[in-house]
Amino acid sequence: MRKNYKHQMNKIVEIDPNSGFCFGVVNAIEKAEAELCAGVLYCLGDIVHNSQEVDRLKTKGLQTINHSDLQAMRGKKVLLRAHGEPPSTYETARLNDIQIIDATCPVVLQLQKKIRTKYQTTDPQRSQIVIFGKIGHAEVNGLVGQTEGKAIVIEHKADIEQLDFKKDIYLFSQTTMSVDDFETIVTEIQARIQAPVHFNYSDTICRKVANRMQSIQQFAAKHDLVLFVAGEKSSNGKVLLSECLKANPNTHLISNASEIDPKWLKSPASIGICGATSTPKWLMEAIASKCATLSATCDF
Ligand code: SF4
Repeated sequence: MRKNYKHQMNKIVEIDPNSGFCFGVVNAIEKAEAELCAGVLYCLGDIVHNSQEVDRLKTKGLQTINHSDLQAMRGKKVLLRAHGEPPSTYETARLNDIQIIDATCPVVLQLQKKIRTKYQTTDPQRSQIVIFGKIGHAEVNGLVGQTEGKAIVIEHKADIEQLDFKKDIYLFSQTTMSVDDFETIVTEIQARIQAPVHFNYSDTICRKVANRMQSIQQFAAKHDLVLFVAGEKSSNGKVLLSECLKANPNTHLISNASEIDPKWLKSPASIGICGATSTPKWLMEAIASKCATLSATCDF
């Protein structure tokens, strides 16, 4: 239900009803909370790119580990987050007698399978598997792992220079990339490819993120001030923030309520609060409440 925080100065503070956790993240957090009721649980990497939510789950006992920790562990229970993991992680778990609680998002699992199948059915001497995504991002590492590390990751338009245009190209995308940027990459490759070389692309961008781009622009445009709430490491946070900025230059990125500058609140009659798929609703509510309090109490 949409919630407006109106206060005595008649300012409106609204939380974007379409912002907040996507189902992949909800699923991972629910699995973690259910397992924590039964005892100790480790999570490989931050469960979500939001330190406030990571801290909340830490107080419940969720311990974040990295891949080196996993190598050294024996006989523990480890949750794999929504981003997914390469096959080598499952192999380490098997060798170390580690019980995996697999919270990989079904959308990511499907993409991993698609890439793995393509890799297994093409000749690496004559073709390249290319992933449009953020180099080093956990999801991308999981995708590259499906190709025994052979896939080429391109992050920017200029990166297509490293492709061999005499070989077939099979292009996929990390689930949280911008559809517009993906289309630009497709167009650039199409312009360079010449028959009989084959170019095949799969738009594997998650619509849970892509569909938010338009709605977040509309939300940002109708407010005088926008506070975009996201953690630094959030990939879709960066994409959604840029959509907000296109629609409303008076947009500020914050990660928690303490980062609100009271001066921002002086003149706007309406304040919109929105965030990434890794931004918890409770955090946006805390920020809305702080805005209402500051607007009511500050002398500006
Ligand atoms: S953004 Fe999409 S693919 Fe990624 S975790 Fe959420 S639902 Fe899954």
